[in-house]
Amino acid sequence: MIPIQSKLPQVGTTIFTTMSALAAEVGVINLSQGFPDYECSPVLIELINEAMKDGHNQYAPMPGVAALRQQVVNKVNKLHGSNYNADTEVTITAGGTQAVFTAISTVVNPGDEVIIFEPAFDCYAPAIKLMGGIVKSLELEPPNYRIPWDMVKKLINNRTKLIIINSPHNPTATILQEDDIEELTAIIRSQDIFILSDEVYEHLIYDGQIHHSMARYPELAERSFVIASFGKLFHATGWKVGYCLAPAYLMNEFRKIHQYLVFSVNSPMQYAMAKYLEDEHVYTDLPSFFQQKRDYFRAGLAQTQFELLPCYGSYFQSVKYQNLSNQNDVDFCLQLTKEAGIATIPTSVFYTRQTDHHILRLCFAKNQQTLDAAIERLMNFKPL
Ligand code: GLN
Repeated sequence: MIPIQSKLPQVGTTIFTTMSALAAEVGVINLSQGFPDYECSPVLIELINEAMKDGHNQYAPMPGVAALRQQVVNKVNKLHGSNYNADTEVTITAGGTQAVFTAISTVVNPGDEVIIFEPAFDCYAPAIKLMGGIVKSLELEPPNYRIPWDMVKKLINNRTKLIIINSPHNPTATILQEDDIEELTAIIRSQDIFILSDEVYEHLIYDGQIHHSMARYPELAERSFVIASFGKLFHATGWKVGYCLAPAYLMNEFRKIHQYLVFSVNSPMQYAMAKYLEDEHVYTDLPSFFQQKRDYFRAGLAQTQFELLPCYGSYFQSVKYQNLSNQNDVDFCLQLTKEAGIATIPTSVFYTRQTDHHILRLCFAKNQQTLDAAIERLMNFKPL
């Protein structure tokens, strides 16, 4: 064996892969990795077949199929009153994770500091480290996980290059509020700091709340990469198609990396998605579709020993299990998988320091039978 110096010595296989594999092995109900267990629209599948039959089988243009970029602009303009240019300010990516990686590589140089808020989705820190950047993480406190902006101010110095925000938030299901936007705007106003805004759950927002996209606020949009996911929008996470919005001067640099990382994204998919998005109900119906699932799942969980945390957005519900066990969350999660047949995600994996608040994350993007079966198992679960 030739010695290899690992670029990411601390990193193993992601918790999502690990838990989904465990769930498949022992035949449990998989509420761990976030993905729907029901089919996406047959109309969309038909449109993809048609695109293939129509001969859209060669490379798409590097930044993405023009019609899809235009549909993205129409959607974002309609929802947020923004004015992105489809030619220069939108790039179709191979999913949200690739967009995050590319955006981080676009702006982070060795020695640059990047502020992230933990619990944080797992792909941010490795990308920062691979670019030679330094992760400055701030822990948010349950149950509300609000960003402590006074502490953010203290962390900022002339090496701070990027702040990564994520709303609706994975794993905590919280969302940015109006006052967060005011604080963020005031903080970055006099600084050369970029923003990476992970908005992959943008349409999964409940109780009539507004999604505070960076695209809504010109002062923030002019320094932001806004990242979104068609997988969440179309209930098809396996297709791995997403997009990034950024002002032209940033997008120009983003595309220099994108073109050598993936060159271009699956072409028939893009033609089909562009057609499908002509009907705005595709996205305007999503909040009520998922809110129904959230409400149903929460009502069921309320009958168990688990304690519910708030859920304002995303398709995740966090629960505390202190009425059932004192174990750490990883051990408890494994026990729940083996003994109750429910796979979840222990939230300590979203912290650099593995901070354990005895909280699990459960995905409710599931059909009613799955949710019913899960609730029944959770209700009957009595740890030995
Ligand atoms: N976003 C998904 C989740 O949080 C996982 C995506 C992945 O496995 N990379 O469950």
